[in-house]
Amino acid sequence: MSKYSIIQELIETIKVYNLKGWSPATSTNYSFIDENNQIWISRSGIDKRIIAEIDFIPIDENGYFTGNNLTFKPSAETAIHLFIYKLFPETKIILHSHGLYPVLLSSVKKNYFEFQGNEIQKGFDGEVSHLSKLRIPLLENSQDMSFFEKELWSRKSEILHSCFAISKHGTYAWGKNLFEAKRHLETLDYLCQFEWNLTQK
Ligand SMILES: [Zn+2]
Repeated sequence: MSKYSIIQELIETIKVYNLKGWSPATSTNYSFIDENNQIWISRSGIDKRIIAEIDFIPIDENGYFTGNNLTFKPSAETAIHLFIYKLFPETKIILHSHGLYPVLLSSVKKNYFEFQGNEIQKGFDGEVSHLSKLRIPLLENSQDMSFFEKELWSRKSEILHSCFAISKHGTYAWGKNLFEAKRHLETLDYLCQFEWNLTQK
């Protein structure tokens, strides 16, 4: 898919997520790889209500901005996107959410979220039944990006559903295209919302 059509669809998705409250206070970040293998990532400090094509900037595989406007800064979490592309090479698009339910649920869970029995589990690629027991890795939060690199490398075998959560921070989900990445992010959010509401009984 061309850079232009990916960006248009991605911007539409980001604005919908913003209305859901998933990107408060300029938080969250998004990236994709275009048809020429160029990585594009949302720049830092953008109000997602008004994000536009110009807010996606090209970076190299080390996270350095390769465009002309040197005042543009890639997202502070660029390194996490690069680790995901390295670990799961079929990935073409990555979405990050600060949706409240995974964050709430992370405050009462450690190491992973566990889900079973919910129809929406089939939103994860390859899942065909609500009966499977799913574990989604939950990482501690850190401002040190090398911490995430170590965690993601060491927990790669646990990352089976193209997503993970960071404690009291948010979720990352990805896919071979936007449709798949959205499905993964929204499935995880729904499951967290369900589990959190159960804990409130
Ligand atoms: Zn974040």
